[in-house]
Amino acid sequence: MKNHFFLLFVFTVLLIGCKEPNKAKKDVVVQKPKTSFAIVLHGGAGSIKKSYFTDAQEKAYRDKLSEALDAGYAVLQNNGSALEAVQKTINVMENAPLFNAGKGAVLNNLGKVEMDASIMDGKTLNCGAVAGVSHIKHPINAARVVMDSSRHVFLYGDGAEVFAREKGVQLMDAQYFITPKRQEQLKRLQAKEAGKKIAYKMAIDKMKDHKYGTVGCVALDKNGNIAAGTSTGGLMNKKYGRIGDSPIVGAGTYANNQTCGISCTGTGEYFIRTLASHSVSDLMQYKNKNLLEAIKTTIGKIQKLGGDGGMIGLDNKGNIAWYFNTDGMFRAYQKSNGEKKIEMFKN
Ligand code: ASP
Repeated sequence: MKNHFFLLFVFTVLLIGCKEPNKAKKDVVVQKPKTSFAIVLHGGAGSIKKSYFTDAQEKAYRDKLSEALDAGYAVLQNNGSALEAVQKTINVMENAPLFNAGKGAVLNNLGKVEMDASIMDGKTLNCGAVAGVSHIKHPINAARVVMDSSRHVFLYGDGAEVFAREKGVQLMDAQYFITPKRQEQLKRLQAKEAGKKIAYKMAIDKMKDHKYGTVGCVALDKNGNIAAGTSTGGLMNKKYGRIGDSPIVGAGTYANNQTCGISCTGTGEYFIRTLASHSVSDLMQYKNKNLLEAIKTTIGKIQKLGGDGGMIGLDNKGNIAWYFNTDGMFRAYQKSNGEKKIEMFKN
């Protein structure tokens, strides 16, 4: 009899025990997949003042910024990666002679185009860069193949071009990049440096002489991954062989899922000295600064040294920040909650 009671007891306990997991299952909160995403871009900082633009010229810039933003946003919306979004956005601006990247890049001292670009994956800290390239239609695409298909991080000059061609990146004749506007600007700048002055034909020419015009983008995709990229022709009338901050990871570009993604524009030499984009990430990680505070602190450091420019950034929660110490910066962002902004001037 005792045994029967014991067996009944054991049986009941087992029955209750078996029921428990089901009960527990009901209580499990199913984690919704992350769906928020965001993208931010810049098209260079500098003397960008409302009075330098006609309505039509301002519209042309705004339309192109919007087109570039839409290209990257569509990638994110369709579950694409942040890297892909950054690349697509930058490609639109590299195609546009309005900006100092790809077609319409500025000219060096010898009247030649020498372009730099870099891209970084915030998930893996993997990155790729090219510098001093003169024939690559989309230098950001070359940076991407260096990252994805080589064991290196940074290639320059002819070697970078040979590698890019091997990997199927499109090359162009050097003439493709050169526009009459840039030739005129170079002539004027060189005359100015020689003590001669050539009058500006239009107010917008004055603006272009003094702005930097690099392009950059940072994106956060639906999987919570951040990527950042920057592409540029560098500085007008730069010394041949000069490399700026844009292709230097940690200076002009940085991305880390733990903190943020950053792309810079301005006098590259100062952004290199301050390791500007990496400094923003460090200030967030080790000093608990928020994104905007970290950007402002870093631009402050640059300003103290005599440099100017700006930055765009995006943190791992999708917060967006930008800041510059110039008259203006071409900039735009869009978030998955519907927020969209396109700005050019100081507010
Ligand atoms: N930072 C770039 C460079 O120094 C220029 C720019 O931002 O327009 O090459």
